[in-house]
Amino acid sequence: MLQAEVKSKFGEDVSIAIYPDNCKWNYIVDCGEASLLTVKDCMNARAIFISHTHIDHFINFDQIMRHQVGSKERYIICGPKNIALQVQAKLKSFTWNLVEEDAVVYEIREIISEDLIKVYEMKPAEWELEFLEDRTALYNDERVVVNFMILDHKTDVIAYHFKDNDSINIDVTKIPYKPGKWINELKLAYMSDDVNKVIEVGTEEHIAEELFHYLKVEKGNSLGVILDHAAHEENHNKIKQLFHDCDTVLIETFYKEEDKEKAILNYHSYASQSGKIMFESNVKKAIPVHFSRKYTEEDVESIKVDFYKAFEGSY
Ligand SMILES: [Zn+2]
Ligand SMILES: [Zn+2]
Repeated sequence: MLQAEVKSKFGEDVSIAIYPDNCKWNYIVDCGEASLLTVKDCMNARAIFISHTHIDHFINFDQIMRHQVGSKERYIICGPKNIALQVQAKLKSFTWNLVEEDAVVYEIREIISEDLIKVYEMKPAEWELEFLEDRTALYNDERVVVNFMILDHKTDVIAYHFKDNDSINIDVTKIPYKPGKWINELKLAYMSDDVNKVIEVGTEEHIAEELFHYLKVEKGNSLGVILDHAAHEENHNKIKQLFHDCDTVLIETFYKEEDKEKAILNYHSYASQSGKIMFESNVKKAIPVHFSRKYTEEDVESIKVDFYKAFEGSY
């Protein structure tokens, strides 16, 4: 189960932490000002996903990085065209003469197009960009698979789709056999659909399929983060494609309905359009995020009213 938390308080920018349950690490999407982001969130952020580098999405990268240097960990940063040079520029703006070479490693995955990602690595103190490889899939680890789309905001904005792996458990108090390494073999047989695999349970042999009913399979949920984007057809078609049937989506809703001219001018979305595209994508739970900092709490309430009206299908 993936859980998203907005770490920016009212009036701050945008930064979202994603926590997989029963997991030592988390992910961060965007690095705007966010006073609810903790040192632990930064240190445990196995990967940072940047939508784009407008200042309200990137200004807090320095703080996050500050808590990561010294951990000796490898952190992955995914982002749009130019992200490698922009991260490098931030790192190079400090002096690192007292920091050891293995204090941290940054792996940058720069999204050039929807089917080309360039991968680089950087280490202190020189932070030279070392090219590693070209790849097509963005990110996966033991827990999640992350897919993406490039949206138009008069610059590339990456929208991210996280999918938690299905989890397979067994209640050892409900099985008539002694637990052992056969449980793992059974899970593997289930995952690879190897129904006829012979599983040795103690001294007995069983066909995997006969034991499958002891497994409890929990479907991993899907979670989307869609930040700044123009509310036009091309973007909406891409959103519908990637986020169709998604369990939860956090979507930029920068402007209220009355300010839609500003939204159009600035390649942003606004209340009814963000709600509508979530409705059309058949998203189960949609959450508007990232409001103009000029707005009062009352304005933001009105954004939410218009958003949810559209999300329920009346727009
Ligand atoms: Zn922006
Ligand atoms: Zn923004």
